[in-house]
Amino acid sequence: MHQTLLIYAGGTIGMQKSAQGLVPSTVLESDLRHVLAANELMADFDFLSLQPLIDSANAGPAEWQQLADTIKQHSAYRSYIILHGTDTMAYAAAAVSYLCADLNKSIIFTGAQIPLALPGSDGASNFIGALKARDHHVQGTSLYFGDQLLQANRCAKVSSTDFKAFAAPGGPAPLPTKPGLLISHPLSSAQNTAITVIYFYPGISAATIASQLKAPGLKLALLLSFGAGNIPAADQTIVSALKQAGNDGLALVNISHCRHGGIDQSRYASGRVLNEIGVHSGGDMQLEAALAKGHVLIAQGLAGTELATAMASNLAGELSE
Ligand code: ASP
Repeated sequence: MHQTLLIYAGGTIGMQKSAQGLVPSTVLESDLRHVLAANELMADFDFLSLQPLIDSANAGPAEWQQLADTIKQHSAYRSYIILHGTDTMAYAAAAVSYLCADLNKSIIFTGAQIPLALPGSDGASNFIGALKARDHHVQGTSLYFGDQLLQANRCAKVSSTDFKAFAAPGGPAPLPTKPGLLISHPLSSAQNTAITVIYFYPGISAATIASQLKAPGLKLALLLSFGAGNIPAADQTIVSALKQAGNDGLALVNISHCRHGGIDQSRYASGRVLNEIGVHSGGDMQLEAALAKGHVLIAQGLAGTELATAMASNLAGELSE
């Protein structure tokens, strides 16, 4: 047994062409071993393919749990490299950073924009880079892509084509000083309906917002607001719809459209109103980190104000307090 487990979850790095477009292939392991041999590097890892291999566009809370379970079931390894699709890698990496926060392991997500098997692929350099990052014993969950090692729960996919596909615009954030919540209940697809994201755009109506807030099973609404956390507060019907949802027990958390700088709900009157109706600031959390965190907290049974308060506190370095 080696000290590193490579977990292939699916995604472009291991895909091949088919009549339906790119689909996951089953020969990735031997391709990776050839890459290392060609670069005179040791293939010092064991390989595990998840079933089914997926395009990460199809991943959600249940698949994040499957990743965390796989890591925990193979706890003898010191480090894990997860080959994952890029589309939702930032969400999965954030989820695993919470679910595996209590493990003293190195977990590194990577993938590729172009399949390893195709000419011009970035798969080999990302894979080798992730292995080298592992050699430096980076603890916790990170994402290696396009020559950058990023904190997993501070990332976003920022390009659908560039090899530098990910960024962590706020930089790393400190780990919490005290251990976060005890995570004992698994995530499942049954909770997919528990979170909605309200994307504020110029001209959004109260009716549109209210219809999102009425979805059955909803526990948390992430408000994706303008700038420092502003909404079109001159429209009283919008403010009332949010206030009503809060009164009905929904947790409301404010996240900025801006990838850098975060929320300051006191700066403008159009944000300050949110303080008055019980909307919690999500600080400088990225949407990806907030969505994954919401699912983890909801699975632990949190709801209402308790959920909103936990969302606003630092669980695994996703938020600068
Ligand atoms: N759609 C693919 C996926 O996320 C994209 C990729 O892997 O880069 O699985």
